[in-house]
Parts: sequence; C-alpha cells; structure tokens
Amino acid sequence: MKFVIENLSKNSGRLGYLVQQDTGKQFKTPLLLQTTKGGSIPYLSREVFDHVSKDCHVLQMSLATMDHMKEALTLFKGGLSGFVGFKDYPTVLTIRDPCETMPNGSNDKDIVPLFTRRGKETISPEKYIELVETFKPDIYQGLNDADTNFDSAKKRIQKSVDRTEIFMRFCYEQHSKSEILKKSCLFVPIAGGYNTFNRSQSIKDARANGGDLCGGYIFEGFHNYGLSASEVTSEQLLPIMAHCLKELLADSKPIMLPGAYTPLLVLELIKMGVDMFDSSYAYCAAVNFKALSFSWEEKEFNVNDTPFIDITDDCLREDFTPLLKDCLCLACQKHNRAYIHHLYKTSELLGPILLMIHNLHHLMQFFKKIHESIAADSLDNLIQLIKYQGGDKVVEYRITANTKVISKAGLGKGFVESKS
Ligand SMILES: [Zn+2]
Repeated sequence: MKFVIENLSKNSGRLGYLVQQDTGKQFKTPLLLQTTKGGSIPYLSREVFDHVSKDCHVLQMSLATMDHMKEALTLFKGGLSGFVGFKDYPTVLTIRDPCETMPNGSNDKDIVPLFTRRGKETISPEKYIELVETFKPDIYQGLNDADTNFDSAKKRIQKSVDRTEIFMRFCYEQHSKSEILKKSCLFVPIAGGYNTFNRSQSIKDARANGGDLCGGYIFEGFHNYGLSASEVTSEQLLPIMAHCLKELLADSKPIMLPGAYTPLLVLELIKMGVDMFDSSYAYCAAVNFKALSFSWEEKEFNVNDTPFIDITDDCLREDFTPLLKDCLCLACQKHNRAYIHHLYKTSELLGPILLMIHNLHHLMQFFKKIHESIAADSLDNLIQLIKYQGGDKVVEYRITANTKVISKAGLGKGFVESKS
C-alpha cells in the first residue's frame, strides 16, 4: 500500500489516500476500516453488506478472531480477502479484536497473549511471522506489547516499550529477509501508554530501526479495547497524541488508532493528523442495543435529539417511525423503531443485524462528511456541531454496557436475554 497526502491544513488535519499496489485502487483518508470478526462484517452476510455499501472497503482483520484459519488459508490460493468472500478488498491485519475488551496481564518476555473465543492463546515472534506470511495481508502491524491503559503503572509501561522493541527487532529482520512479507506494508507499533517519555522512546526506536521498512505507525496501549476505548476522553488522549504527532507527522506515513473511540474524539484526532480508524464503535453500539443518531447537519436541534437511540426503551413500543428520519440505510427504509424494539424483546437475531446495518451506514456517511469538511477547511465547525449537538453541554458519546438485559456471560455476544 502506498500513502499519498493530498491536502494538508493547519486547522483541519490531512486528506490523502492509500493505494493498493496490485490493483491501483484508492482509498480516501481519513479512512474508516471495516472491522471484521472471523473475516466477516459482524452480523452481516456478504450479500447484506452489499446493501450497506457498494464501495470497495479496506477490511480490518484480527488474529484474535482468525488465527484458527491458518491451515485452511495455507491450502487456499485466492488470498485472504478472497477466502472470506471479499475478493480484492485490501486487508489490514491487527493482533487484537477492537470489538472485545482484552484482559490485563498474561504478557511475558517472549510471548504475546491472544484472547480468542477458544480462550487464551500465546504467540511467539516466530509464530507471529509465520501467521502473517500465511495471511499475506496488504498491511500488518508489528508484534508488540500493548497491555497498558490510563491506570498503568510506570513499570508496566516501561516493560511494554522494552518488549515491543525486542519483538520489533525480530519483525524488522524477518520483514527484510522474507519475499512474502515484502509485499505487505509494515505498520510499526508505538508503545508507551500515556507517558510522553515512553512514547518518545518508542518513536525513537521505530525511527532508528524501522527506517524504510516502516510503512506507517499504529498506536495502541491507550485502552483495553471493547467499550473501554469509548471511555477514553479528549483530556486524556489529546495531549499525549499531540506530543507523538509532533515527532511523526513530518514522516508523511499513515497513522492508525484502532479501537471504538467516540465520534468526537475521532474528529479531534483527525484534526491533529491521524489517518486511520476502524468501525468497532458501530459494533459496540449495536450489541449494546444502541442505534447511532448523532447529527452532522446544521439544523435546529430539539430535546428529542440524542446521540443514540436506546432500543430497549419501552417508549419505542408503538413508535412506528424509522430509527432515523431521512436515513437511507436498508434498516431505516424497511423497518421502524417499534419492530426493532420487538426484535430485542424476543431476542431475535435480526435485531443486531438491523442495528449493524444502520450504525455502519451512519458511520460511513459521517466519514464522507469529514472528507468534505477537511476539503473545505471547516473541520472545526463539524467538531463544534458533534461536540454540542445544538445544546450547551458536551454530548456524551461513551457507550455503556446495557446491563438492563445483558448477563455477564452474554456480554459481547449480541442479543442475549439476562437470566438474573
Ligand atoms: Zn438507518
């Protein structure tokens, strides 16, 4: 993948595109990667996803949901995207699944834990490179220890940086040796939690040893994924990212922050120059029964306008309007709030399917608006609109677990009725 910056503005971030080398296909940045689980868009079949978007998208795939496919992929000759039914869609391979919360701990000097549906697995650097060589993604991230968050102790953060350096030394060596890996673009991890000293150390190492092998940067270690990413606040994240970006933007390489960051934080990061995000926010909202309804239109807001519609709310029982008036997604065109509320009440699988269709459509439209705003150098207006939604208080976009109905065992598994 090649990265081209088209437009750089002091107040609105940067516009650019990624080019897939083999096909010449271009993908506008800031880019919304389509998060997959086991290679599929969560809850949606390939055919249904076509109704959400006819465009070709860049797919974000995680080893945590796909490592068991290694053997089948070895035998399959049609490439990773072909294997999952999205032929020629570019792929970004990450280690962790941004949709699910990752437990702390389990890191060791020589291995990285992988939290899969079958339980905890471990990957050594050797095994990791073998997996990447089998998957042959367009972009892959370097192996790293990302087990830090806002509460991490200094010692843990230092360890994550030191271990990442050791893992990356192996990755650089293998990447420069392997004919297969050379065809993939390596995103170098920047570790260091919320500590400016540690992030700088990690950047220094990436620069000194990554050199030409580095095709982009990926930032983890700010949260433990799942809903915890939506809890990260601007006050926490923006100062440390400003510090890192001051050093990195001059490199003109794409910068990616995986995780379900709120729409407001995404905008603020884009303004600073971050280029790539994933769609796990749409998933995290859908499995917690929320339909995204924040607005980017200059309009008269009223008291009923909220950033989410809570599908579990009993007042929707006889509400025969679509999730969102004027939304052109399949769910809003064909169904109404009362029906989706009924699907939730009866634990029907169609419930999360319709919510995913709507939420993904909503996020994709949001990114279109972001591109227009950067081109017009008016990202600040959009940030104000998203931040206040016509009111005088900052809107809360954090997704909270819907404990009304989800039992602990059912968390993250969709529409599961609580037994308690
Ligand atoms: Zn809709």
